[in-house]
Amino acid sequence: MTALAYRDIVHGFDGRPVLDGVSLQVRQGEFVCLLGPSGCGKTTLLRLAAGLEIVQSGSISLDEHVVASKQLHVPPEQRSIGLMFQDYALFPHLTVMENILFGLGQGERSAINKGRAIWARNMLARFGLTKLADHYPGTLSGGEQQRVALLRALAPNPPVLLLDEPFSSLDAARRIEMREETAKLIREAGTSAIMVTHDGEEAMFMADRIKVMNKGRIVQSGKPEDIYLKPKSAFVASLFGHANRFCETVNKGYVQTPLGRFKAGDLSEGATACVFIRPEGVIPFEGDEETGEARNAEVVSSHYLGIASHVHLRGKSLVDGASITFHAQRSGRYLPRIGSRTNYRVDPAHVFVFGKEDGGEQE
Ligand code: ATP
Repeated sequence: MTALAYRDIVHGFDGRPVLDGVSLQVRQGEFVCLLGPSGCGKTTLLRLAAGLEIVQSGSISLDEHVVASKQLHVPPEQRSIGLMFQDYALFPHLTVMENILFGLGQGERSAINKGRAIWARNMLARFGLTKLADHYPGTLSGGEQQRVALLRALAPNPPVLLLDEPFSSLDAARRIEMREETAKLIREAGTSAIMVTHDGEEAMFMADRIKVMNKGRIVQSGKPEDIYLKPKSAFVASLFGHANRFCETVNKGYVQTPLGRFKAGDLSEGATACVFIRPEGVIPFEGDEETGEARNAEVVSSHYLGIASHVHLRGKSLVDGASITFHAQRSGRYLPRIGSRTNYRVDPAHVFVFGKEDGGEQE
């Protein structure tokens, strides 16, 4: 069953195209992340589903009923969609509890609304916010406001929830905590959701499926692990952080890079291949293990990042012996002395070869 479907949406502002034929579906109970850089049209897609923007071409269905097309515009309040935007938009003159219950509309004393008021109290207790029920939003921290905004969006029990960068104003520690709580709450409620983000890690953490957007189009769609491990273009690969990147000519089906020789896949002889090697694909290690091609490098710097350590290395290019620097990673705390030497090996699972036409030469 499809909770929300976009069909061939083409949209622009002042004659400037923003969405170029977007089709996507969110299944019942599914959590989809729209991942892409600033300006690629993510928020516009959410606004169209919410009814805050009028469809110019294509159609949008909720629960398999068309709610928006060139001929039809069901108003936002009749769409049963929950919204949570990055600024939370809590009403400053209403208390926390009043904010949460705001979306329930008239008939405050109805049995359904009483049930939701009990739900809201239970949720506040779960988040440790019971004492804040009568406070005004201006007195709450960012994390507390975020939780209240989430509860307000979920209070009417909407079948579909749209979230636009909901964690962008939180600090790193709060963001991780809130990602987990938000995903859990939405899944428990059985709500279908689309969340917009430009953070690849965040999309990996939250999504059942990721839709990668670029310049108004969906360029790849799949499970988080497929998007991460099988990016179809340099653009998609680069959404997950900085990678070592080398562009060389294909020779006898292979491409020789400063960090090793890799299969060129479908690229033809003489074509330019751009090879992306994620830092986690270059793994420093001590000892005498033979790596095939003597890979040994000097430590330029290293930083412990919590889960892993990032190491900047200087070594000899396996193409021409020239001095090159590159980025490596090792799990846990690994802080070798600057100037010391280390072996490294390359994990092919983190090596991606693209042609020019896949955006391999894009910055
Ligand atoms: P961000 O991550 O920065 O929010 P986004 O991917 O969500 O970006 P949109 O907000 O959908 O992108 O905007 C896409 C393009 O459309 C941008 O160039 C933006 O300036 C433009 N745009 C969005 N809304 C309007 C509007 N109401 N009038 C004119 N241009 C608009």
